[in-house]
Amino acid sequence: MDYEAIIGLEVHAQLLTRSKIFCGCSTAFGAEPNTQTCPVCTGQPGSLPVLNVKAVEFAMKMALACHCTISSFCLFARKNYFYPDLPKGYQISQYEYPLAKDGHLEIPVDGGLKRIEIIRIHMEEDAGKLVHEGAFESSTWSLVDFNRTGVPLIEIVSGPDMRTPEEAGMYLRSLRDILRYLEICDGDMEKGSFRCDANISVRPKGQRDFGTRTELKNMNSFRHVEKALEFEMRRQMALLESGEEIVQETRLWDEDQGRTLSMRGKEEAHDYRYFPDPDLVPLEVSEAWVEDMRGTLPELPAEKRKRFVDQYGIPEYDAGILTASRSLADYYEECVRLSGEAKMVSNWIMGDLLRELKKDDQEIEECPVAPRHLASMLRMIKDGIISGKIAKTVFETMYRTGGDPEKIVKEKGLVQLTDVEEIQRVIRGVLEENAKLVEDYRKGKEQVLGFFVGQVMKATRGKANPKLVNELLRKSLSNG
Ligand SMILES: [Zn+2]
Repeated sequence: MDYEAIIGLEVHAQLLTRSKIFCGCSTAFGAEPNTQTCPVCTGQPGSLPVLNVKAVEFAMKMALACHCTISSFCLFARKNYFYPDLPKGYQISQYEYPLAKDGHLEIPVDGGLKRIEIIRIHMEEDAGKLVHEGAFESSTWSLVDFNRTGVPLIEIVSGPDMRTPEEAGMYLRSLRDILRYLEICDGDMEKGSFRCDANISVRPKGQRDFGTRTELKNMNSFRHVEKALEFEMRRQMALLESGEEIVQETRLWDEDQGRTLSMRGKEEAHDYRYFPDPDLVPLEVSEAWVEDMRGTLPELPAEKRKRFVDQYGIPEYDAGILTASRSLADYYEECVRLSGEAKMVSNWIMGDLLRELKKDDQEIEECPVAPRHLASMLRMIKDGIISGKIAKTVFETMYRTGGDPEKIVKEKGLVQLTDVEEIQRVIRGVLEENAKLVEDYRKGKEQVLGFFVGQVMKATRGKANPKLVNELLRKSLSNG
């Protein structure tokens, strides 16, 4: 039987405010444990939370970027449960009255765009962090760090609209790109500032009802999310095939074993005894405030992608890669402005530049090649001063030293050889040494031309203009 997966994602994004959501404690990452705490975020009796307006504005930005409707009235609610990293015994979250609802995102799928519904975006506080001694299974004690307690989060809940693990990965990357464009979350999955839980069920293709779903946790990278969903999809399909039942539960992704493991039965909303937090007044959001926030939105990835295709005439694929971050898009546009070569710039960035950065595990912000240097190298290729092949060498040197390509070319004597007599002299030498092949060529074995070109390029250490070499070779061979 043919099955399909039904996938919905719940994403938690840590907001980059300087202080926590209900107190003035710093949110800076990496401080000594329990040094960024106060009576409010450690839940001392009598302390009162006060809402951080910056956190609300950041959440509004994301909601607007995802085409959500922002509620004029929302409430904070207590989500009650016990865990050692939750000092109050409840988490302040939003339940019946979230900040925003009914949005959507469009993700690129199969050359087209697919719409993923966003059911809601609500605000909440993060819990603390447990540090287990040794391995989790054999650990005999744990430490708790409350520095993270009360750091603002938004939870973004998608509709059950994704049908493959790849679509889920694409949706996650799109969300992460938007958060980064807005500069409200660093989107770092490994550091835990961007986290994802996934709901997945499978059903025979054509069936309307959803199957029993499981919830997956503990996936710390985009790759893990896709792998976990892939595994879970196959596991559920195998169960259905053998006539067994799927248990509704929460499962953990175990990266080492490459499989999901049962963790606990799925809790329902009523298990948390949600109720409005009596310590916080309702949050009222005026239309004027929403419009103010809308005015602060930058050009977002989808718009930028479309503009790059229209304005620069580059393929959709290129535009997708070049707009993955605002800085990369800015870098691209600056290079095009300076060189006028939209497609050539795109090729160099997507090829050599991103490859080098990836090798060094660096971001475009740390790129040692200045846009004006890349642009001036491209001009030299266009003017025939260096060949495309030599440009590779020049680029490598530029990347290593951050140097000016014109100086590099001069110092290393890399100027392209375009002197006809000089090239003809080399050609004569090559043809004399390979008299047998010359004869073959003249008998009609034209493929040896490539060999001759290679020999001439070698003799000139790659500096001869290849087009010229081709031309002159053909002439010499037919004159013989
Ligand atoms: Zn605090």
